[in-house]
Amino acid sequence: NNNIIAPGNFEGKYRNDSDVEEIVDLAANSLLNKLIRKSLVESPHNVEVLQRDPTSPLYSVKTFVELHLKPELLQGVYAMGFNRPSKIQETALPMMLADPPQNLIAQSQSGTGKTAAFVLAMLSRVDPLKKFPQCICLSPTFELALQTGEVIEQMGKYCEGVKIVYAIRGNRPLKGTYIDAQIIVGTPGTVMDWCFKLKLIHLEHIRVFVLDEADVMIGVQGYTDHSVRVKRAMPENCQMLLFSATFEDTVWCFAERIVPDPNIIKLKKEEMTLDNILQFYDACANREQKLQALCNIYSTFTIAQAIVFCQTRKTAKWLACEMLKDGHMVELLSGELTVTDRAIIIQRFREGREKVLITTNVCARGIDVQQVSVVVNFDLPLNTDGLIDFETYLHRIGRTGRFGKKGIAITLVEKCCVYMLHDIEEHFGINIKRLNTRNVDEIE
Ligand code: ADP
Repeated sequence: NNNIIAPGNFEGKYRNDSDVEEIVDLAANSLLNKLIRKSLVESPHNVEVLQRDPTSPLYSVKTFVELHLKPELLQGVYAMGFNRPSKIQETALPMMLADPPQNLIAQSQSGTGKTAAFVLAMLSRVDPLKKFPQCICLSPTFELALQTGEVIEQMGKYCEGVKIVYAIRGNRPLKGTYIDAQIIVGTPGTVMDWCFKLKLIHLEHIRVFVLDEADVMIGVQGYTDHSVRVKRAMPENCQMLLFSATFEDTVWCFAERIVPDPNIIKLKKEEMTLDNILQFYDACANREQKLQALCNIYSTFTIAQAIVFCQTRKTAKWLACEMLKDGHMVELLSGELTVTDRAIIIQRFREGREKVLITTNVCARGIDVQQVSVVVNFDLPLNTDGLIDFETYLHRIGRTGRFGKKGIAITLVEKCCVYMLHDIEEHFGINIKRLNTRNVDEIE
C-alpha cells in the first residue's frame, strides 16, 4: 500500500512532533515484534535448564509426535506449518505437558516460540466436554491478548468444542452471565474483575495459569498486584507458567511471587558485537551541514539499505522532510505512528521497498532488520546527563554486520562534540575513522 504516507507529507500521521525523546514502550515493541514476525528467531545457543528436582530425568523432544498430543491438536500444529519444535519448545513442551503438571518459568527473546508452546499446553489440558473456564492466560495489553487469542484459535481450530473468551476492556459480560468457554485470555485488571467483582469465573476449576510477557507486565501500574491476586485464588494443583523475554531482577522477583517451585528454562540471546562493523565519523558545523553530509552519501547507501537514527522525533521528522525536498526517497518511522502503521513500514523496509529509514532510538530497538548494511547516527546517542549512551550506540549499530557480513556505521557529530567519540572508542576498544562525506568514493 503506497498510500500509507504520501511522500513529502509527514504531517497527517505525525501530529505530535514533540522534542522530547521517546519513552520505551515495551508493550508496543512487543506487539510490533509479533506483527512483523513471520518465522522463528533462531538462537545459536543451547537452552539452560534448572530443574526443580535435579534428579528427575530431563526429556527433550525433536518431533511433535513424541509429545503424544490429541490427534486434533497435532493436526492444528501441523496446519500452522510447524514441522518440529523450536529450541525452547524441545525442552519446555515435555515439562509443560508432564503429569503431574510442573510449574515453569521460561525466558527467551521474542520470536523463539514461547507463545506457541503455552498455547499448546493449554489446549492439551482443556476438556472440551466441560463447559466452564479451565485455563487463564494473562497478557499485558488488550492488543497482546488478542494476538495470543488468535494463536489459540488457529492452533485449536480442529479441537471441537473448545472455546475462548477475551477478558479485556470493552468486553463486559453482565453479572451472573455463564461463561462456557474453557480458555480465558485477558489483561490482569479485567480478569481480576471477572473473578472477584463479577464472579464470572470459578477459579477452583482452573488447571493452567499462564502469565505472558512478565517483563512488560511489571511496567504496567497495578498489573503485578492484580496478577498475584488472581494467582493466590488458584487451586493448589493449578499449573503456573510464566514467560518473559528478559530477566532482570525485578522480573525475577515477580516470577517468584507467581510461580512456586518452578523449573526454569533460559535461552540466551545472540550477543551483539561491533566486530564486523567499520565505523566512521564526520564532523559538521551544524544540523544543516549534517543534512548535506547525509545527502552526499545517500547514493552510496542505497546500494543496500540504511537506517538513520535521530535523538528526537522532531529531528527525525525535520530530516525526513528535508531529504524528501532534496529529492531523496526516505521513510520515517516514529513512535507517534500506531503500531500497525509502524509494522507496515518495517515490513516494506524488510521487503526492500524502502531503502532508507529515518527513525528514533526507541522505535527501531529490538527490531531485527538483517539486510541493513549502513547505519547513520545523525545524532550521537546521549543519556539524560548528556553523556554517551553506550548501550544505545551498540543497539543502533549492532544490528548491522550480522552473520559475517560487513556493516558500516557513520556517526555525524558537531565539531564541538568530536571529543565524545573517544569515549566510544575507549569503551568498545575500537577505532572510528574520519570520513570525508564530501568525497564519498572513500566509502566505496
Ligand atoms: P514468542 O512467544 O517467543 O515471541 P512465538 O510463539 O510467537 O514466539 O513464535 C514466533 C513465530 O514463530 C510465530 O510466527 C510462530 O507462528 C512461529 N513458530 C512458533 N513455533 C514454531 C515451530 N515449532 N515451528 C515453526 N514456526 C514456529
